[in-house]
Amino acid sequence: MPGPAGLPSPNHGERRAGLRPSLVVLHYTAMPSAAEARARLCDPTAEVSAHWLIDRDGRAEQLVDEARRAWHAGAGDWAGAGDVNSRSIGVELQNTGAEPFAEPQMAALERLLSGIRDRWRIVPQGVIGHSDLAPDRKADPGPRFDWRRLALAGLAVWPKATAPGDPARFAADARCFGYPDAAPDRLLAAFRLRFRPWARGPLDATDAALAADLAARFPVDGPSASA
Ligand SMILES: [Zn+2]
Repeated sequence: MPGPAGLPSPNHGERRAGLRPSLVVLHYTAMPSAAEARARLCDPTAEVSAHWLIDRDGRAEQLVDEARRAWHAGAGDWAGAGDVNSRSIGVELQNTGAEPFAEPQMAALERLLSGIRDRWRIVPQGVIGHSDLAPDRKADPGPRFDWRRLALAGLAVWPKATAPGDPARFAADARCFGYPDAAPDRLLAAFRLRFRPWARGPLDATDAALAADLAARFPVDGPSASA
């Protein structure tokens, strides 16, 4: 059964409670090829999907109408709310998880995100990774994904550490930016995966400074997030 716009994945439903997309969730497929990923994302027995799939060569295919609720995020929450599928658009990037993201693919993602932003008025801090909303379960789009590049294009956010932060405030600041409650080690791992993938060792003043900057500039209950 194709979607309402004749799109190939049958795996979608109504967005609940009249919700509209305020987030974009980025994923990697963790599969060897986009063809295999596409087959799975369109398989009714798999019960997973995403709105878009972007291959390494930059070809982007829409699988689910953006107005519909695709099934990509699963359990998790962001900015203090669950049912992320009802609040987001899901983008799968063809990548095994162990390779760089190709330039044509990143360029295609930037074009796609610009369009999604314009269609749905999604703010840069609303573009997140699967690992952000599910730190206990997920690691995609992984340490090789270039979040800073997206931020420089105005399509995501990137923190600045201007002064050493207080590690005791890290969890509260991460939550203020949008992260869910998670075990301290899982929260730190998810945060570093996105903002400091080269960092090792225990929570430090730089992690805390980055989280403090994000919490100050992009608080979930602040005017910029609720606009
Ligand atoms: Zn994912």
